[in-house]
Amino acid sequence: MDFHFSPEQEQFRDAVHGFAERHLRDGALKRAHQEEHPWDVAKLMAEQGLMGITMKEEDGGQGGTLMDAIIAIETVASVCPRSADVIQAGNFGPVRVLAEYGSRDQKDRYLTKILQGESVITVGMTEPEAGSAVTDLKTTATPDGDGYRINGVKVFQTHASYADVMLTYVRFGPGVGGIGSVLIPRDAAGFKQGTPAKFLNGEEWVQTYLDNVYVGPENVMLKEGGFKKQIAGFNVERIGNTARSLALGRYAYERARAWALQRKQFGRLLCEFQGLQWKFADMKMKLDAGQLLLYRAAANADRGFPSAEETAIAKAFCNQAGFEVASEALQVMGGLGYSQEELVEYCMRRCRGWMIAGGSVEILKNRIAESVFGRSFSQRPGE
Ligand SMILES: Cc1cc2nc3c(=O)[nH]c(=O)nc-3n(C[C@H](O)[C@H](O)[C@H](O)COP(=O)(O)OP(=O)(O)OC[C@H]3O[C@@H](n4cnc5c(N)ncnc54)[C@H](O)[C@@H]3O)c2cc1C
Repeated sequence: MDFHFSPEQEQFRDAVHGFAERHLRDGALKRAHQEEHPWDVAKLMAEQGLMGITMKEEDGGQGGTLMDAIIAIETVASVCPRSADVIQAGNFGPVRVLAEYGSRDQKDRYLTKILQGESVITVGMTEPEAGSAVTDLKTTATPDGDGYRINGVKVFQTHASYADVMLTYVRFGPGVGGIGSVLIPRDAAGFKQGTPAKFLNGEEWVQTYLDNVYVGPENVMLKEGGFKKQIAGFNVERIGNTARSLALGRYAYERARAWALQRKQFGRLLCEFQGLQWKFADMKMKLDAGQLLLYRAAANADRGFPSAEETAIAKAFCNQAGFEVASEALQVMGGLGYSQEELVEYCMRRCRGWMIAGGSVEILKNRIAESVFGRSFSQRPGE
């Protein structure tokens, strides 16, 4: 067992770090509060080869490993937390499901532009009555000629208000086995959106109404029976979410550490107060433990897909650790940490959202408990 990066991984990290210092350090604070997706950063990252890191070269990717993608997202976040979202959108999110299960034609129409940093894809799983219980989703795909008519409502999707296409979880038939997915472009007839609202993390979300939208056979991605494959792909999204939780916690920690080495009160540096030293010791232990769990899930990933159990353990731990560390870092920085002049409060707000998004901490713990006892526990009454 070796806990060090290989020389190639170190070289890659240093190259990403150099890129981030040159292009992303300036404006990092402003970018965090900017409403619009950072398209300029996405273009730069595409040119730098930071999109599609784990995807095949014939698909426009880089043929790298999940660990490479994690090195990229962590390194970018250490310089510009907001820009890590661009790495997520181009490597970890629904884009990974599209690259794995999409047809050649679907990839040509949608993946190419995403990997060029000109477009993003959003995933529509959650519905008003199907959140944690996502397999309760009601959006239907009813046969119509060669294709399907889609009817339903989706909520809370990242990138929903500007994504060109939505990877939409739909129901072709009853039960978990009836779930599959289709690609719906935002200009499809019957694709409508409500008034945008905001999350605490500053991100916009919007309710999407699918009102008898026609989807031709060329836009069906996974037919009924596809749910397991979709979730296997979704574990990659969870790993990106895990990595950002930890990286933003670490960003806040590093900022607070530097502050504690220079800020004086009562005639002493903050780092000389034992009450604060113990906070830093706790933060460091959480960050290091989370790092090992994240890297284990990535290093053991099978063809780029991490296991459900190791993903659940890493995500539940890092979501909590990232939030707790960012919150303590804010406390150590006092009023300045709570101010938008610093990125620490931003890191804390972002980390808070990841405890809910992509499978809440509680739902992940349910999954971990199933592994602990080697059996499943239905969450439904009477089962
Ligand atoms: C920042 C952010 C980004 C998101 N992005 C997307 C996206 O891109 N696409 C998308 O489809 N959705 C997205 N979501 C939605 C997200 O997946 C859901 O919010 C999440 O699955 C929880 O569903 P819910 O909000 O309906 O809460 P509920 O399911 O109503 O849960 C409420 C609370 O009860 C707990 N709970 C529920 N069931 C159990 C149980 N059996 N045991 C223990 N506790 C339980 C939950 O953990 C939670 O704390 C996003 C959400 C956020 C906050």
